[in-house]
Amino acid sequence: VRLLVAIHDVTPAHDAAVRELWMLCAKHGVRPALFVVPNWHGMWPLTPDSTFVRWLRDRADGGAEIILHGYRHDEVGLHRRWSDQLRALGRTAGEGEFLTLQLDDARSRIMRGLELLEAVGLHPIGFVPPAWLTHPSATNVAAELGFAVSEDVSAIQLYEQHVRVASPVVRWSARGRWRPYLSSVVAATQNVIHHSALFVRLALHPQDLAHRTTSSSMNRTLAGWTAHRIQCTYSELAEASL
Ligand SMILES: [Zn+2]
Repeated sequence: VRLLVAIHDVTPAHDAAVRELWMLCAKHGVRPALFVVPNWHGMWPLTPDSTFVRWLRDRADGGAEIILHGYRHDEVGLHRRWSDQLRALGRTAGEGEFLTLQLDDARSRIMRGLELLEAVGLHPIGFVPPAWLTHPSATNVAAELGFAVSEDVSAIQLYEQHVRVASPVVRWSARGRWRPYLSSVVAATQNVIHHSALFVRLALHPQDLAHRTTSSSMNRTLAGWTAHRIQCTYSELAEASL
């Protein structure tokens, strides 16, 4: 049984919270994957010599995996059809950047993101769309672009092996007044339900630190899972014969 931990929404816009999550993981002996957004909301492009990017490169040099996580992580300028609305139900408030993007648009946006990451010296091994939402026509776009890994809400996709690894994900939400409490209860329940799953993912969002209920639930969850599971990375999975 293995544990995969990731910090989502890694951007200078969340600089302090991202570092705090990193420290939280370190406290539990975990080196999380970093899901980097190249230009958060179109206002936070990564630049080569910013302190944040230098910090990211140091983490990557130390073995942290970089995953491309959208380009700007919002839906500005995009239009949801009713079928998109349905797929996004309860999942995100306007952050499903790849929800409506069909193959060509998805491909060019990923390529733009990849270019920006490469330009600042970061080399992602995978692509994961914001809120794990992809338009059905673009499901395999990450494979086509040569990424080794992707994932959705229920599984990790290993393209070279052509394998889909079932893997539940525990996550939180600190949005609004009641979500922090509800999501902490849900997380506690999932910790029990997924006890015997072969691969469990923990998705930590910087925004979750905004509420004490969610941040202490994350801390408890990390303590609980790391006590009886070995951490595993996406590249280890991609190289394993499953
Ligand atoms: Zn995200």
